[in-house]
Amino acid sequence: MSRYETRPVFAVLSVMNAYRRVSGRTRKAISIEMGRTTNWWKSLEARGHITIELHNEIMAFITSRWPKSHAMPSPVRMFLRDHPEKVAEAARSKPRPAAERKCLCCPTRFVSEGPHNRMCPVCRQRFAGLPSQMVG
Ligand SMILES: [Zn+2]
Repeated sequence: MSRYETRPVFAVLSVMNAYRRVSGRTRKAISIEMGRTTNWWKSLEARGHITIELHNEIMAFITSRWPKSHAMPSPVRMFLRDHPEKVAEAARSKPRPAAERKCLCCPTRFVSEGPHNRMCPVCRQRFAGLPSQMVG
């Protein structure tokens, strides 16, 4: 499998929307639980394709959390059949805490990689001339 392999995003979005309906959760809540920003879902909708890694991450997340009260749609069943180890791993993973932070330098909210990371990507780029340990 090539690391550059992609999947059309519409297929994943249809599974995400099915999960949203059966779980009764909002796009925002699901995005945050996956460690993304609140407008992540919208940014996915604007794309044509996503990487196979992101596709598998999303499918594993949704498959591991699919409510037992609802029948799994066939893409979810097939993912569980083909990648049981990825689903088991996602089931064990705790929901990521809302890692969204406000940038130190501007009003942007962004997903921080940790306490060392306090500037949004745009500001980090702007300060790129500084040694990286100063801008984290
Ligand atoms: Zn900023």
